[in-house]
Amino acid sequence: MEFEKFKAMQFPRDILVGHKVLHMLPSLIPPYSKNRSVLILAGNTTYQIAGEEIEQMLLESGYKVTAIKAGEANRENLISAEKKVSKIMPGIIIGVGGGSKIDLTKKIAYDTGIPFISVPTSPSHDGIASPRATIKDGTTVVSENAAMPVAIVADTSVMVRAPFRYLTAGAADVISNITAVMDWRLANRIKGEEISSSAANLSEYAARELMEKAHMILPNVEESVWIVTKQILASGTAMAIASSSRPASGSEHLFSHAVEMAGSGKAIHGELCAIGTVVSMYLHGGDWKKIAEVFEKMRISIRAKDYGLDPETVINALATAHRIRPERYTILGESDLSYSASEKALEITGII
Ligand SMILES: [Zn+2]
Repeated sequence: MEFEKFKAMQFPRDILVGHKVLHMLPSLIPPYSKNRSVLILAGNTTYQIAGEEIEQMLLESGYKVTAIKAGEANRENLISAEKKVSKIMPGIIIGVGGGSKIDLTKKIAYDTGIPFISVPTSPSHDGIASPRATIKDGTTVVSENAAMPVAIVADTSVMVRAPFRYLTAGAADVISNITAVMDWRLANRIKGEEISSSAANLSEYAARELMEKAHMILPNVEESVWIVTKQILASGTAMAIASSSRPASGSEHLFSHAVEMAGSGKAIHGELCAIGTVVSMYLHGGDWKKIAEVFEKMRISIRAKDYGLDPETVINALATAHRIRPERYTILGESDLSYSASEKALEITGII
C-alpha cells in the first residue's frame, strides 16, 4: 500500500512572553503591514489596560490604527465586528483581552484571512494560544475552528494586574489536560482515533508542571503569571501539533460547556474545568483526590454552591455533556449517564 498519510500544522511565528514585552510589539508588525493599516480589537477595560498603549506605540511608528471595542464573544458581536474589519481590511488585527476578545479576533482572522496577534491581558485560559474559538450562539456555546495567532505577546507585567482568580482559572484550564489526554487515549483504544504521542505528552507535561508548582501560584506575583503562562503556551503548542483541541479538551471541557449553557452561575471557564477535571478523573478511576488537593492549594473551590450552581444543574450537565460534541469520544460515553450515577459521582467528589 502506498503511503498516504499527511498532516498540516500551524504555529505562531513569534512568541514574546515576560516582563514588559508589550513594548516589543511594534517590531512584529512589518511583515504584515503592506498598507500600514493595523486594527486593534479590545473591550472597554482591556483597551485601557493595554489597547491604548499599543495604539499609541503604533501611531508613533507611523501606522494607521483603528481601534474597535467589542462586547462578549457572541454571534451578533462577531458579525458586527467582521463588517467593520472588512471595510478597513487591515494588514493585521491585534486582539487585546482576557478571553472573549481573543475568541472574536481569532474567528474574524479565520473568516477574513487577515493574520492576528494575540495580546492576552489575563492568563485565564488556554485559548490565548489555540486555534479554537468559543462563540455564544443564542443559548448555546459553540467551539469553532479559528485561526492560530501569527504572534503572541504575553506581557506578565500587564497580566499580573488581572484578578488572582483569573490566574488560578488559567492554571486549572491547563491542569485539565490530564483528563483530556486520558479521554484521548480512551478514544484511541475504543474508537481507533488517531493520537499524537508528542502532543499528548507535551500536554500532560504542562499540566504536571503546574500541579507540582501549585504552591508557587500566588497573588500579585509576576513570576506566578510567568509560570502559568509558559504552560498555557505549551498547551497551545500541543494543540497546534495535534491540529485540534483534543490534547487540552476532553470530558471535563464538555462538562464545563454544559454548565455554561445551563447558565454558569458565577464560575468562569477555568473554574468549571477544575470541577470537571475532578469528576472526570473519578469516572476514569484515577487519583481524583490528588487533583482536588492541588486545586485546594491554589484556592480554587470545586464546590458547585460556591459559584451559585444548584445540584440539579450540575447533575444534568454531567449526565448530558456528551451530547455537546458527539464526535469527541470521552469517558462520558455515547449516551446520557443516569441521573443517579451522575449525582453519585458529584457527591463522592464533594462537588455537590
Ligand atoms: Zn479550556
